[in-house]
Amino acid sequence: MKPRRAQPLERLVDAHPVWVDTGPENTCSANRRGVEILFDCPIHEDCLCSVPVDPPLDGGPTFEARGWKRTGGEDFATVTLAPSIKRLGGPDGCEWHGFIRNGLFETCGDSR
Ligand SMILES: [Zn+2]
Repeated sequence: MKPRRAQPLERLVDAHPVWVDTGPENTCSANRRGVEILFDCPIHEDCLCSVPVDPPLDGGPTFEARGWKRTGGEDFATVTLAPSIKRLGGPDGCEWHGFIRNGLFETCGDSR
C-alpha cells in the first residue's frame, strides 16, 4: 500500500494535472490531443493517476477502449469525469476510489 498524504488534496488544480497528448513516437495512429489527464493521487504520496477521457480534447474517438465521460472544457478547475475512478486492487498499489466533479476530488470510503 502506498503512503497516505497527511491531508488529502481537495482540488484537481493542486494535483499538478496535465493533459496527455500522443504522437507517432508512441502510437501508430495520428497525433492526438488531450486523450488523458495525468494528476497526483489525491490521497497518496508519490502516486500518479492517469485517466483516459471521452471525448478527448481533439474531439476524436476515445483513445483507449474505455474512457471516462468528460464534461467541462480544458479547464482543470471545472472538469467533471464520470463514473467514479476506481483504482482499488490495481497493479501499482494505488487504492484510491473517488470522483472528480467540477474540478474537486471526492474520495469514497473504500479508499485505502
Ligand atoms: Zn494513489
